Amino acid sequence: RAKQNGRNGYCFFSQQLHDDLLRRHRLAERLRGALRNDEFVLHYQPQVAAHNARIESFEALLRWYPSQGDPISPAEFIPVAEQSNLIHRLGDWVIHEVCRQQAEWRDRGLGGRRIDINLSGKQITQLGVFRHIEECMMEHDLTTRDIGIELTENVLIQADSKVLEHLRRLYHEGMKIAIDDFGTGYSSLSYLKTFPITSIKIDSTFVRDAPTDPSDRAIMEATVFIGHRLGLEVVAEGVENRAQLELVREIGCDLVQGYHFFKPMAADEVAGLLRSHVDAGR
Ligand code: C2E
Ligand code: MG
Ligand code: MG
Ligand code: MG
Repeated sequence: RAKQNGRNGYCFFSQQLHDDLLRRHRLAERLRGALRNDEFVLHYQPQVAAHNARIESFEALLRWYPSQGDPISPAEFIPVAEQSNLIHRLGDWVIHEVCRQQAEWRDRGLGGRRIDINLSGKQITQLGVFRHIEECMMEHDLTTRDIGIELTENVLIQADSKVLEHLRRLYHEGMKIAIDDFGTGYSSLSYLKTFPITSIKIDSTFVRDAPTDPSDRAIMEATVFIGHRLGLEVVAEGVENRAQLELVREIGCDLVQGYHFFKPMAADEVAGLLRSHVDAGR
C-alpha cells in the first residue's frame, strides 16, 4: 500500500510537469502564430512627477489579444517567448512599434515625452538588438531622448562585457536606462555605481506595504537616499492609493507610476490625454 502511494505520488508530479511543459509548448506555438497575425499591441502607462503629477514619460507594456480566446498576460507569455527564442522577434517588434508611435505622436504635435521599453535578459544576449534600436530610431528620426530602456537587476548582473559596452554607449549618448523591479533581484549596492544606469524603479511590492510596514518604508527611504547621492532618478512603481502616494512624496521619489494616476492605456487614449495635457500648457 505504501508502495502504491509512493508510486501515485511520483506519477502525480510527473503528470504535473508534463502538463506544464505541454501548456508552455502550446503557448509557444500560439505565440509563433500570433506574431504572424498581428495579435500584439502596446499599451502605455504614464510616469508622472511626484510633486505635481505632470506626465514625464511612458512605459510601453506589451499586450496579447489572441484572435481566439482570452487575453494573455505578459507575465505568462514573456517567459515562454524567452525559452522558445521568439523573444527576439517579439522584442524587435516592440522596439519598432515604440519608435513608430513616438514619431506619430511627434508629427501630430503630441511628442516630447519619452517612451521606455522593457528589455528581457535573453533579448540582449543577441547584440543585434542594439543595432535594431539604432536603426529604428534613425528610421523615425528619433534621438536617444525619445526612448529609454528598462532592465532588471538580474539581467544587468548577467550582462557580459559586450552588452555592457553597448549599454554604456547608449548611456553616454543620453539615453535613460532604468533598473526595473529594484530590490527583488540579486541586488548589490555596488552595481549602482558600476552599471550605466540613470534611474531606479523601486518594485511595487515595497510600495504596496510601505504605509503600514516600517521595514518596507525603511528600504524605500534607503533606496531614495543612495539613489539621489549617486545622481539617479528614483521611480516608485505600483502606486495605487493616496496613502502610498503621500509616502512616496514624503520620502522624495521623483516619479510615480501606478493605477492611482493611470493604468496602462491604448495609444488612442494616450493621444487624447496628451492633447488635453498640451492644451493645459503642461
Ligand atoms: P514591469 O516592467 O515591472 O511592468 C510593470 C507592471 O506593473 C505592468 O504589468 C503594469 O501593468 C503593472 N502595474 C502598473 N501600475 C500598477 C499598479 O498600480 N498596481 C498593480 N497591481 N500593477 C501595476 P504588465 O503590463 O502585466 O507586465 C508585467 C511584466 O511583463 C512587466 O513588468 C515586464 O517585466 C514584462 N513586460 C511587459 N511588456 C514587455 C515587453 O514589451 N518586453 C519585455 N521583455 N517584457 C515586458
Ligand atoms: Mg518595466
Ligand atoms: Mg517594474
Ligand atoms: Mg515587474
